[in-house]
Amino acid sequence: MEFTPISDLGEFGLIDKIRPYTNEQENVHLLKGIGDDAAVFEVPAEQVQVLTTDALIEGVHFDRTFTPLRYLGFKAISVNVSDVCAMNAVPKYLTVALGLPHNMSVEMVEELYAGMQRACELYNVQLIGGDTTASRQLVLGITAIGFASKEKIVYRSGAQVGDVICVSGDVGAAYAGLKVLLEEKKAFKEADIRPDLSGYEYALQRHFTPTARLDIQRYFSEMGLQPTAMMDISDGLASEIKHICKQSNTGALIETVHLPIELETRQIAERFGEDPDTFALFGGDDYELIFTLPLSQIQDLSEKPFTIIGTIQEPEMGIHLLYEDGGTMPLEGNGFTHF
Ligand code: ADP
Ligand code: MG
Repeated sequence: MEFTPISDLGEFGLIDKIRPYTNEQENVHLLKGIGDDAAVFEVPAEQVQVLTTDALIEGVHFDRTFTPLRYLGFKAISVNVSDVCAMNAVPKYLTVALGLPHNMSVEMVEELYAGMQRACELYNVQLIGGDTTASRQLVLGITAIGFASKEKIVYRSGAQVGDVICVSGDVGAAYAGLKVLLEEKKAFKEADIRPDLSGYEYALQRHFTPTARLDIQRYFSEMGLQPTAMMDISDGLASEIKHICKQSNTGALIETVHLPIELETRQIAERFGEDPDTFALFGGDDYELIFTLPLSQIQDLSEKPFTIIGTIQEPEMGIHLLYEDGGTMPLEGNGFTHF
C-alpha cells in the first residue's frame, strides 16, 4: 500500500478524501452533514434523543500491531451504535473525532473509514461530522445520536423481582479471540514463527468486528416486548449484571449451565487451561444485549433469539451463580477478579 503522509494533503485535503466514505444517503431530515461548522438535522416529533460517546485509544483499547484498520473502524461504530441500541433507541447519526499519529498515512485513514462506512451501511446510520487533529497515538472518539419515543427507552434501573434475565447471542468469544491474538503475538516475537489462527475464525471475528444487536431491538418491536432493564455487554456479563442489580436494587440468580458459550470459545478456554464460564462472565467486549423481561412477556414466545440465564431476586438474596450440581457461589464483591 502507498504511504501518503497526511501533511501532503493537510487537514482539509484529508477531509475531502474521507468524505466519499460518509455515505451521503438521501435523508430529508438531515439539513446539513459534513461541510459546515456543525451538522443540522430535524428531530422526529414526539421522540426523545439519545446521545452517547465512546473513545477507542491505541494501546488502551486496541493494539495497532495486530488490528486491521478496517476492522477498527467497523468496531468503533459498532460499540457506539450498541450503546444507543441498549437504550432501545434507533441510532441515526454519528460524529467522529480523530487523533492521528505521524505514522499513519492517508491510505490508512481511508482503510479506517472504509470500515466505518461498512458499519454505517449495516446499521443504517449516517456520519455527519467530526474533527481531525494530530495526536501521539491513534484516537477515535465517536458520538452517536438516536431517537425513540419516551415509553420505549429502557434504563438499567427497571428490573423487577421475578423477571427473567436474558442474553442475546453468545458470550466469551471476543475475549477468547483476544487471548489467541495475544498468545500468537508473543510466540511471533519470541520465535518468529508464523501465527496460526486457523480454527479460531469465530472468536477472532467476534473480537475484531462485533455487531450491535439492532436485530434484537427490531424483534422487541415486532413482538411487542418491552424489557424492564437493558444494557450492552462491554465490560463482561458479571459486571453488567451487577450494574443492573445495583441500579434496580435487586439481587439475581444466574444458572451457569445456561450461559450461551460457543464450542470454539470452550475449546480456546481449554487450550489456556481456563474455565469457559470465566470467559463468559468476565471476558467482555461481546456487545451482546443483556435484558430483563417479566415472565408474562415470554410465556407465548416460541423460538427466541436470546437465552434465559437466570432470574431477578429480592435484593437481600444478593447475586449468585447456581451450578449444575446445585451449588451456589456469590458473584458479589471482588471474589472473582480474574482480569
Ligand atoms: P471547524 O474548524 O469549524 O470545527 P473543521 O475544519 O474541523 O471545522 O471541519 C470541517 C467539516 O468537516 C465539519 O463539517 C466537520 O464536521 C467535518 N469533519 C472534520 N473532521 C472530520 C472527520 N474526521 N470525520 C468526519 N467529518 C469530519
Ligand atoms: Mg473542528
